[in-house]
Amino acid sequence: MADSRTCLVTGGAGFIGSHLCDALLLLGHKVICIDNLLTGRKENLRDAVQNPHFTFIEHDVTKPLSKDACEQIGTISYVFHLASPASVVDYQKYPEETALTNSMGTINMLRFAKDIGATFLLASTSEIYGDPKEHPQKEAYWGNVNPVGLRACYDESKRFGEMISMVYHRRDGVDVRIARIFNTYGPRMRPDDGRVVSNFINQAIINKPLTVYGDGSQTRSFCFVDDLVEGIMKGMFTDGINGEVINLGNPEEYRVIELAEKIKAMTGATSEIVFKDLPPDDPRERQPDITKAKRLLGWEPRVSVDEGLRKTIEYYRKL
Ligand code: NAD
Ligand code: UDP
Repeated sequence: MADSRTCLVTGGAGFIGSHLCDALLLLGHKVICIDNLLTGRKENLRDAVQNPHFTFIEHDVTKPLSKDACEQIGTISYVFHLASPASVVDYQKYPEETALTNSMGTINMLRFAKDIGATFLLASTSEIYGDPKEHPQKEAYWGNVNPVGLRACYDESKRFGEMISMVYHRRDGVDVRIARIFNTYGPRMRPDDGRVVSNFINQAIINKPLTVYGDGSQTRSFCFVDDLVEGIMKGMFTDGINGEVINLGNPEEYRVIELAEKIKAMTGATSEIVFKDLPPDDPRERQPDITKAKRLLGWEPRVSVDEGLRKTIEYYRKL
């Protein structure tokens, strides 16, 4: 791991970003979090704000940082760029904000990283593979994305973010790393964010029907947030991986219907399982090939889906 340094985390009030802030502080780093609170919440930073090494700046990354903000931030070694709505419900509610955050917002943060000589990590996504025609997905796969579909505001702007990050890397020598994050779950996902794990658990704990979209035969692979955060930090702090694109996710793959049955059993719910329309362009299957992450970062997930779901169910029961 790196020496104690100052880290900037955009999107730090969100689900993954807030866990990242906590983990960086625990390692003794100083953390500056930038967030406009579009889909994140200040409560996620309840622990972080107690730490004197933590600073929160409310700011929209689609706008350049003001001179005052730059002075407040000072010298930064690492920029973790996580800002962006991430759940399907959120980014379809905010399509233009999402597109701008992942395009102009990413350019603003790359310019900032370039000016101060910081290492830059982009939180990209498995969505850049679209509805994949290769399974499992390796980093070398270029994807199958509908450019005019309902998911395009997210998928295409994340692809733009990857492209522009590589421009700053090749043209300006910025030390860039791209993490393609696969479905991640855990405490602090908003109960109403519409993702499958938060929906199913919150439906199950009050014995409401579990809403499976389509026939539930589509697959996803689920990574617990603590594992993901460890992967992100390794992605940033590992030397010699400048310009690399790396999948981060847990290859444990489930059909959505299997996940519903598992959560029903784990919560002891009496809920029925109901079938709703499959949203357009919903990827049929998704599983990360993490050979590269294992080789370059020495990283692989340690938390099984059963253990991660147990912790997440416990979190929602306490809310
Ligand atoms: P989240 O919505 O909980 O967090 C995103 C944060 O970004 C929020 O706090 C939000 O307020 C902030 N934000 C959005 N637009 C902003 C802007 N213009 N300026 C400043 N802040 C802004 O989502 P998450 O699940 O924590 O996702 C974090 C990152 O990881 C995102 O970039 C997402 O695309 C990526 N990712 C997440 C997953 C997943 O399964 N959770 C999968 C793939 C990729
Ligand atoms: N899904 C579902 N019921 C829900 C929410 C989601 O069956 O209440 C399905 C959704 O159609 C998709 C999968 O679960 O096939 C994962 O959805 P999520 O929105 O969590 O993630 P993404 O589609 O972005 O991978």
